[in-house]
Amino acid sequence: MGRFGKLFIVPVFLPNIGCPHKCVFCNQSAITGVKQKTPSPEEIGLHINRFLNYKGKNRSLVQISFFGGNFLGLKTDFIKSLLREATKFVIDERVDSIRFSTRPDTIDYERLNILKEFPVTTVEIGVQSMDDKVLSLSERGHTSSDTEKAVSILKERNYEIGLQMMIGLPGDNGAGALYSAKRIAALSPDFVRIYPTLVLKNTILSRWYKKGKYTPLSLEQCITLVKDIYLIFKEKKIQVIRMGIQASEHFERESTILAGPYHPAFGHLVHSEIFLDMASSLIESEEIDCRDSVEIKVHPQSISKMRGLKNRNIEILKTRFHIKSLKVIPNFSVKKDKVSVIPIRRLRRF
Ligand code: SF4
Repeated sequence: MGRFGKLFIVPVFLPNIGCPHKCVFCNQSAITGVKQKTPSPEEIGLHINRFLNYKGKNRSLVQISFFGGNFLGLKTDFIKSLLREATKFVIDERVDSIRFSTRPDTIDYERLNILKEFPVTTVEIGVQSMDDKVLSLSERGHTSSDTEKAVSILKERNYEIGLQMMIGLPGDNGAGALYSAKRIAALSPDFVRIYPTLVLKNTILSRWYKKGKYTPLSLEQCITLVKDIYLIFKEKKIQVIRMGIQASEHFERESTILAGPYHPAFGHLVHSEIFLDMASSLIESEEIDCRDSVEIKVHPQSISKMRGLKNRNIEILKTRFHIKSLKVIPNFSVKKDKVSVIPIRRLRRF
């Protein structure tokens, strides 16, 4: 099991706090449904205490995570008061360490010195793109070289590094996103998150969308692009810990998302397309004729990825290759990210 297998995160949401301005796509309150209010350290302490009650017995690593804002953009005293509050739980041995997310242009030696006396182990950077034109159109206010500098400083200080990228930003395209992914992979982060760009209400992007100045990716386009990007990271053995925005009741309840490739099971759809591709190329290489029935063996934990949502992959494969009967068989000897295809007719002949 990877190091994230038993990780339990206590999320502390800091909606847009510490941001120098709002990036065109961003509305943190819309994403989580939490109203914009800066929590006091005492409120945060109570929240952490309550949240720890949800921790299951089999979680080996517990981290408090400050997210939703620009952590190192906060005033030094406030950063320290938040970290002090979180550190109490580490001293009590109820939590192992602290993580936060921040902008690349807030990482420098001086700010990292603030962290020295606290048990911070992990820093996540909102990279979004490595194309300076895309960063400028999204009004990020930093460049790709800020990200490179930030990663290099964090590595010097031995932090675990997570990089977040966005797909479908204004001015971006498929080739541009792949270019960004390759440059992010070249920085060798410990993990990445991949988020599709959604048109959220009360954002500059929503105004552009209404005026026809911005068109989001379709869900299908986005899944295929994220799949290609996932495979770039996988090849470099970089863990992708999230694909797609976390499903939230708030999204379903209110008209928060005006447009864009949102799906509550986005990551599952990406994995399903990977399994569909693997099975397709194996079936193709077997030269199965239209009368064959086929068995696809996958690890038991990969059954739903192979089947796809509502058995979509099975239907596609049957139609694409004129297969009459196609079964997905669980088999522990197949690796979780692999597929084994057996054409039944040929198997019986030998
Ligand atoms: S994307 Fe990050 S830096 Fe930009 S406004 Fe949102 S929280 Fe702040």
